[in-house]
Amino acid sequence: MSDIHIMKCKICGDASKSLSKEQVLGKHFTNLYECQSCNFIFMDPIYWLDEAYQRPITALDLGYVERNLRSADFVEQLLAPLPPSLLFVDYGGGTGMFVRMMRDRGFRFHIVEPYTETTFANNCEANVDRFGRYGALTAIEVFEHLPNPIASFKEMLTFSSAILFTTELYPNSRPAFGTWWYSGLEHGQHVSFHSEKSLEALGRQFGLKYKRLSSNWHLIAPADHALMNSPTKWGVSKWRRRVTKLSHKVKFLFSKPKRRPSLLQEDYRLMRQAFRSGTPEHTHLDHIWEEG
Ligand SMILES: [Zn+2]
Repeated sequence: MSDIHIMKCKICGDASKSLSKEQVLGKHFTNLYECQSCNFIFMDPIYWLDEAYQRPITALDLGYVERNLRSADFVEQLLAPLPPSLLFVDYGGGTGMFVRMMRDRGFRFHIVEPYTETTFANNCEANVDRFGRYGALTAIEVFEHLPNPIASFKEMLTFSSAILFTTELYPNSRPAFGTWWYSGLEHGQHVSFHSEKSLEALGRQFGLKYKRLSSNWHLIAPADHALMNSPTKWGVSKWRRRVTKLSHKVKFLFSKPKRRPSLLQEDYRLMRQAFRSGTPEHTHLDHIWEEG
């Protein structure tokens, strides 16, 4: 292993100092660096990813289903005020569970997933040439997996200028890295760890604004994007949070939350027809949305 102790930050390009040496998957040694300007934390070198992704979803990811349920609730609330004609895309969508859940809630979501079988989101691949740019892109638990964060972010921006995503930020209490539950040293899939500053720096490079929406939900988008004005529970006082919580409970008691009609029946009818005409693999769930 090299003895270089200064590296260029993968986000802002400033000097990053080595923070610690870590052991990944119980056997691969690497250095952990932290940028002195934006506090982005990253590993270098990274040489174990083939092994780490033998199973696309690590057996340690016990939160997979719970996360999809919570994410669907959160994103549904956030996107509800946007026009129903907008299409959305989930980047690194894995099994496609989130995309299916969002379609079941009436949002036309497509998927980008080059690595695994998209079991629950067939026939809704994202395609900018065909559908135009998307209203927003979601990336749930993706950013911490990216060995080349700028290149991947650029790719996300080809789909949409509004990037709505989850990733955990390294706590201010700064626990020893290996003891932090999110370090992922046991499965080796987490290699990039953001701070508010690094996400701000990332957005700035592309002329975009960063907004923290909750402890682990973030938004990078143009300053005038509709989502930038969405109410956030982050940054308000405990007292105000309590009042908001209470008023939500009262609202819930007296009014049914407005829900969009599910796309499930429509999607099913279309796919049934496609199977009958022998063209299921050439069918796209949103073909009627095609421009031109
Ligand atoms: Zn930096």
